[in-house]
Amino acid sequence: MSSNLFIVTAPSGAGKTTLIKKALDYAKNIGEEVHLAVSHTTRKPRAGEIDGKDYCFVSEEEFKQSVVNNEYLEHATVHGNLYGTPRNQIENALNRGSKVLLEIDWQGALQIIEHFPNAESIFISPPSVDELRHRLTQRGLDSQEVIERRIKGAQVELDQSVHFKHQISNISLDIATKNLLNIMFRENHG
Ligand code: 5GP
Repeated sequence: MSSNLFIVTAPSGAGKTTLIKKALDYAKNIGEEVHLAVSHTTRKPRAGEIDGKDYCFVSEEEFKQSVVNNEYLEHATVHGNLYGTPRNQIENALNRGSKVLLEIDWQGALQIIEHFPNAESIFISPPSVDELRHRLTQRGLDSQEVIERRIKGAQVELDQSVHFKHQISNISLDIATKNLLNIMFRENHG
């Protein structure tokens, strides 16, 4: 049986954000509700990020209290910061019949896969590590040190793709977009 819960995981720089935007635009065009989960994080906001829209930016104390209160469906430490998916938000969206998209790292994805075996888990891989470095550098959001740390993490992350139901290689944006839309909007994706 197919599920309304979609997990998208990718090393940063794999083109995940662009692909997700394409999927959300498509959903809007066909009048279908897709709820993109807003995670909690202890990371500091980047320029232009809006609290409550991109993330809910919380303190480490607040985050830890939410873990104790079992308020997260999953949570993980990514690049030294804490990230968690709010349980209520996801359950409410699923209960009103909306599709839900989680854009989370592989550690969180594996927790969701364990609890929701029907969830459609999607792993997006970058064309190559060199291309990944290029994309992260071009994006201009992170220092060289952070980029190198992310690339190391990406290599570990790439090994996790076997645990996902679907693998999309983002060599061509058009093909990758078609693949993602097919998984998310086809009636039966088995
Ligand atoms: P960024 O801080 O660059 O937005 O995200 C860093 C990483 O954290 C990305 O791989 C992103 O998918 C992941 N991430 C964002 N939100 C969550 C979450 O709620 N849970 C987990 N496990 N990872 C998350």
